[in-house]
Amino acid sequence: MIKTGGLGDVVGALPPVLPQEGITVRTLIPGYTSVMNALSTAQPVHEFANFHGASARLLAVQASGMDFFVLDAPHLYARPGGPYAGPDGKDWPDNGVRFAALSQCAAAIGRGVASDFQPHVVHAHDWQAGLAPAYLHYAGEPRPRTVMTAHNLAFQGQFPRELLDRIGLPPSAFSVDGVEYYGSIGYLKAGLALADRITTVSPTYAAEIQTPETGMGLEGLLRHRAGALTAILNGIDDTVWNPAADPWLASTFDAKHPANRVPNKQALQGRFGLDVEPQTCLFGVVSRLTHQKGMDLLLDALPAIEGAGAQLVLLGSGDRSLENGFVAAARRAPGRIGALIGYDEPLAHLIQGGADALLVPSRFEPCGLTQLCALRYGAIPVVSRVGGLADTVVDASDAALARGAGTGVQFTPVTRAMLELAVGRALAMWRDRALWRRLQAHAMATDVGWRRPAKRYAAMFRELVAQ
Ligand code: ADP
Repeated sequence: MIKTGGLGDVVGALPPVLPQEGITVRTLIPGYTSVMNALSTAQPVHEFANFHGASARLLAVQASGMDFFVLDAPHLYARPGGPYAGPDGKDWPDNGVRFAALSQCAAAIGRGVASDFQPHVVHAHDWQAGLAPAYLHYAGEPRPRTVMTAHNLAFQGQFPRELLDRIGLPPSAFSVDGVEYYGSIGYLKAGLALADRITTVSPTYAAEIQTPETGMGLEGLLRHRAGALTAILNGIDDTVWNPAADPWLASTFDAKHPANRVPNKQALQGRFGLDVEPQTCLFGVVSRLTHQKGMDLLLDALPAIEGAGAQLVLLGSGDRSLENGFVAAARRAPGRIGALIGYDEPLAHLIQGGADALLVPSRFEPCGLTQLCALRYGAIPVVSRVGGLADTVVDASDAALARGAGTGVQFTPVTRAMLELAVGRALAMWRDRALWRRLQAHAMATDVGWRRPAKRYAAMFRELVAQ
C-alpha cells in the first residue's frame, strides 16, 4: 500500500465497494519500488515505446481482491524515498514528467490500449492524475467521460510552461480554458477545467472552495463550473477500522460494550509513558503536523490542556518545527503529554480505541478521515467547524442532545482560544459519565462506511455515461 494520507485511504477503499453497485473498476498506480516488489503475478497488457526516456509497460495485476493497472516505468518510479520526494525530503525535480506520464497512461487506457478493458469513465484523483482529463479532452471524441476529484486544493501540481511540448500537450492547451494556471501548467487546474464532472469530498468544502479564503486561487474556476461540481463525503474502510475485530487494540469492543475500551486507554497511557490514570480524560491526536491541521494552535494550547488536568497523546509527522515543538512539550510535561513522531498505523488504531476524545483543530479540512475513525471507535471528536468536519460531527448542543443526536464538539473560529474552550467543553461533558456514554453511543452508531458514498459515485457515473 502506498499512502501518505487520506488520498491513499480513499483510492484503496472506494474501488473494492463499487462492484457491489455494478461498477467494474481498475485502479492505475505507478510502479513504485514497493509496488513492484509486492507483485507476484502481473500480466503485460501494453508496451509504451520511448515513454519519457525509456520504454514502459502497462501491467494488469490482481491484489487484495482489487484489479490494478501498474505503470511499470522504472526510470520514472523505481526510486528510493517517498512517492513525491527523495530520501532527502526534496521533491523529485521531474515530478511534472512523472505524473504527466501517469495521466497519459490513464488517458491511453481510456482510449482502449488495454484491449480487454474499455472504460466508460476515467476518474482522476488530485493533481497527480489531473492531466488525464486534459489528454482525453485534447485527443477529441470518441472518448470516455471524465471525473476529477479534488481531495485537497492545497496540493495543485504546478509546473513550468516549458514542459508543455515534452509532456505531449498541444500548444492550444496553454490557455485560460485549458491547462494554463498563473503562467504555469496547473495539473489540478487542468482536471478541474476540463473534466466532464468535478467532485469533492464534503458539501461544506464544496462551498468553501468557491470562496477566496479556501479556494487557493481556483475559486473563480470552481464558481464557473459549479454546475458540474458534486460533493460526496468519504467513508472509511469499516473492515480495517472495526473496533470489534481490531488486531491492534489491547481490547476489542463495540457500541454495546464501551467499557471494554478501558484496557486500550491503559495500554495507550503506558505506551506514551503517561501516568496510568483511568480517571483522567485522555485526548488523542493522529495527524500530519502542519499548519493546515492547526497543529501550531494545538501546541500553543497544550499548557491549558495540561492545566485543566487532562492528558494528551499525539502521533504524527510533518513540519520539523512542529515535530520538535511537540517532543519538547512532552519532555516538559512527563506523565501528562506524550508525543511520538512517525507514521504508525497500529498505534493510530490504539489511539482511536483508547483515547477518550480526538482533537482535530484543522484550519481547513476537505473531508477528514480521522474523525470518522474516532466516531466509529467512540473517541469523541473535538473538531473545528470547517469542511468535512462540519459535515460529519454533530455538535452536542442541548438541541442536538434533545433530539438524540450529538456526536462531538465543534468550535469556530479556528483559534487557540476557541480550541481551549472546546477542550474545556469536552472535559465538562466527559465528567458527566452518563452524558459521555450517550455521546459515545451516538458516535458509534454513525454510518461512516463506504456503502452510501459508493452508491453516490455509481449513480454519478451512470448519469454521466447516459448523457
Ligand atoms: P490528510 O489526508 O489530510 O492527512 P485525513 O484525515 O483525510 O488527513 O487522513 C489521514 C489518514 O492518515 C487517516 O487514515 C489517519 O489515521 C492516517 N494518519 C495520519 N497521520 C498518521 C500517523 N502519523 N500514523 C498513522 N496514521 C496516520
